[in-house]
Order: sequence, then C-alpha cells, then structure tokens
Amino acid sequence: MTDDKKYPNFIDDGAIKSLMESPCSDLGQVQSVLDKSMAKEALTVEETAVLVNADSPEAVEMICNAARELKKRVYGNRIVLFAPLYIGNHCINECKYCAFRKSLRSTVRKTLTPEELNAQVIALEDAGHKRLILVFGEHPKYTPEFIAQTVRDTYAVKHGNGEIRRVNINAAPLDHEGYKVVKDSGIGTYQVFQETYHEETYAKVHPPQTHKGDYMYRLHGLTRAYEAGCDDVGIGALFGLYDWRYEVLSLVTHSRFLFDRFGCGPHTISFPRIRPANGMEIDDKHYVSDPHFAKLVAILRLAVPYTGLILTARESAEIRREVLEFGVSQIDAGTRIELAGYSEKQKEQDLTREQFQIGDVRCLDEIIRDLVEHDFIPSFCTSCYRKGRTGEQFMEYAVPGFIQNMCTPNALVTLTEYLEDYGSEETKAAARPMIESELKKLPAGDEVRAMIARTVEDGVRDTYI
Ligand code: SF4
Ligand code: SF4
Repeated sequence: MTDDKKYPNFIDDGAIKSLMESPCSDLGQVQSVLDKSMAKEALTVEETAVLVNADSPEAVEMICNAARELKKRVYGNRIVLFAPLYIGNHCINECKYCAFRKSLRSTVRKTLTPEELNAQVIALEDAGHKRLILVFGEHPKYTPEFIAQTVRDTYAVKHGNGEIRRVNINAAPLDHEGYKVVKDSGIGTYQVFQETYHEETYAKVHPPQTHKGDYMYRLHGLTRAYEAGCDDVGIGALFGLYDWRYEVLSLVTHSRFLFDRFGCGPHTISFPRIRPANGMEIDDKHYVSDPHFAKLVAILRLAVPYTGLILTARESAEIRREVLEFGVSQIDAGTRIELAGYSEKQKEQDLTREQFQIGDVRCLDEIIRDLVEHDFIPSFCTSCYRKGRTGEQFMEYAVPGFIQNMCTPNALVTLTEYLEDYGSEETKAAARPMIESELKKLPAGDEVRAMIARTVEDGVRDTYI
C-alpha cells in the first residue's frame, strides 16, 4: 500500500468549492438539516453546506437558535475553563501570521526553565486553574521526550489545594513513536490545527521549504496520533487565511474522516480568528466579520454535535459573550501568553513576547462571575479522561447526549471548589444562588448536594462522577 492510499488527501478542493457555489434560499431545506442536527446526528459535508449557504436573516436566526438549543441538550449550560501555558517560542518555521516565526528578530525568544515552569504553574494554581494547554513552537529542542517531561513536571506541582488535573498539548505534529512517548506522560487532548485547509493558501503562508510547509504531513498529523493510540485529539483552522466557508466545510470533512476511520471524531474543534501580531504579514482579504464568525460557530455546533468547541481569549469579552451561547463548550480565562507572564505583575501586553494580541484580558475570577451572571456554569471538570471516557467510549456518552448527566454535576462541584479556595466575595455571592438553583433541576440532585457538602464542610477536594 502506498502512502497516498494510507494517507489520502481527503480535502477535495473542487468538491468543496462547488458546494460553496450553491446558494440556499429554501428555508424548508434549512429546517430539514436542522432537524437532523437536533436529533444529535452529525451532518454530512453537503448538509453543512446548506447551512453555510443559507444567508437570509431568517435562515441565520434559525441556525443560531438551533445551535443554542442543541448545545443545551448535549452539554447543558456548563462552560469548561482552561488556561494556555506557553513553554517555548523557538521555532524553525516561517508562518507569515505568527510572531514566533524563525526569521523575526524582534521577537524575544525563551524556553521556560524548570524553575520558571514551576513558578508559572503555581501562579495558575493560585488563580484556581485545573486544566492547562501547554503550547510549544516547532523546534528540535522540543522533542517528544521534552514535551513529556514538561507534562510530568506540570502535574507534579501542588500548591495549597491547587493541582493541575488535565494537561493538553498544542505542538507540532509528531511521528508515531513521538505520540507514544507524549501519551505515556498522561496528556489529555493533543491539538494540531491545519491553519488553512486550502492547499494553495497553505503554501503561501507556510513557505514550502520549511517543515510546516508539508501540507500532507500536517493534514495527517492526527491520523498518526490515533494510530499511535492517542484517541483524544483537537483539530482547528485559523480563520482569516482563506474563505471561512471553505474552512468550515473542511473541518467537517476532517472530522468525518477521523470518525469513519477510527470510530471516533475529534474531541475538540478550535476556530481562532487571526489577530494582530508582531511582524505579521497577512492582509485582511479573508477577514471574518463578527456576524459570520457567530454563524460559523453555530454551524460547527450543528454539524458535529458531539464535539467540544473551543473559543479563545483572542476574541473580546463582548464577542465571547455573544458567541458562547451558540454552542461553545470550552474557553480559556485569565489568559497570559507572554512567556513566563503568569507570575508577573505587568498588565500591558508585550507583542514582542507573545504570538498574537489577545482580546479578552480579564482575570479568571471576573470571567467566572460574568459567566454566572449570564446563566452559564463555569466548570473545572476533568473527569472524562480520568475515568477513561475517551475516544470511542467518550463518543458513546457524547453522541446520544448522556454526557450532560456528568458535565453538570461535575461543573457544580468544581465551581464550589473554586469558590471555597479562590473565589472573591463578589463571585461567591453571584455563584452560590446559581448552584442552588441548578441543584434543584438535577435528577440526582441529592447525590450532588452531598458531594458539595463534603467539599464545603469537610474540605474534600477532587470528587467527580
Ligand atoms: Fe512556529 Fe507555530 Fe508560529 Fe508557525 S504558528 S511560526 S509553527 S510557533
Ligand atoms: Fe468534559 Fe467529561 Fe467533564 Fe463533561 S464530564 S465537562 S465532557 S470532562
């Protein structure tokens, strides 16, 4: 078998472009696609295209309403919180949108020392975080062994009641052996974003002579992860490099490819929009407007109902508030992306030390309060991978929507932990009535109430179902 057969180019450029050229003004057709989503069935690429091409205000409203409703049915109103932790920004690539590209001399380069890593994790634990994503540039020094050691060192830091319970990774795609090494360190999700699925654009922004210039190696980066036993993966596209409709249809294609081949789709989909960055060389020809951004989030929710959607602090607080309800399940909070930034007092962003400019600089406590005030339950839950609910097993819970029976109780218990250990008085005052009212709605409310009582009265930590 040739590599082309084992690792085919599943992005059919001609087919995707032709789907993009079929406007849809038939609200009945839109409704029949939405009916399938509401039955919690994943959409085909053709069905997704119906939603992408439906442009009338009525159709967009139907799409957004359906996404809002579906999110509630599958995941409830919890929003899982995490923080990115940049480990090193040395890089051998030349991505034109990134401040870490090799040739950019004005960027301050750094790899955290073990002591600096320790200080960052303590600062994150002291803020209340339980979930991190470690971010690495692509460089020979960031070997799988180095990544694995960093993960182990991160888990080893315990400060007060603080601990990190789930470490995800965003790094270059690895070979099979590399994934095995990293998986053995106890990672959650391994993220590799294609950035753009449009091959011609990919070649323009990732010079072909660079390592990342190999489109097919990256396209199958997560195929190799599954083959190596990592069945918890995250895909994503950087919106603004090419037509957003092409990227949405490609993300759905990628998701279906993984599902068909491995019986399990990606655990998460990310959809970052390009942000200003030191030395960026990208024009705004494919800038995604706020209304299109909201629509694409809603469409992704509907197309892949079982997959977590991650909305990052690249976006402003206002956009995050608006888009959250269309199906987002995870956000980062209290985010600092300067290398070693979490242990500093400095509030201003320094673009020579970060990959791009973030849009939401609020602290974790403020974001938690804001979520509560907008009827979301902030969650630090990490139970699924610790209970072995990953890959196909996770799909068994997520596809029919049973996962909500775990998400909501775990959200309430971990929020209680946060309030007890780190919450401000204002946030406690906002969150406690919400916890009480959510408990009343739960079928297993008494059991969860007992877990919360043990957390508050007995100081028990880390209980979950
Ligand atoms: Fe390196 Fe990643 Fe930046 Fe590309 S996007 S230059 S691979 S850090
Ligand atoms: Fe995520 Fe599973 Fe916890 Fe739900 S129960 S928030 S899917 S880890």
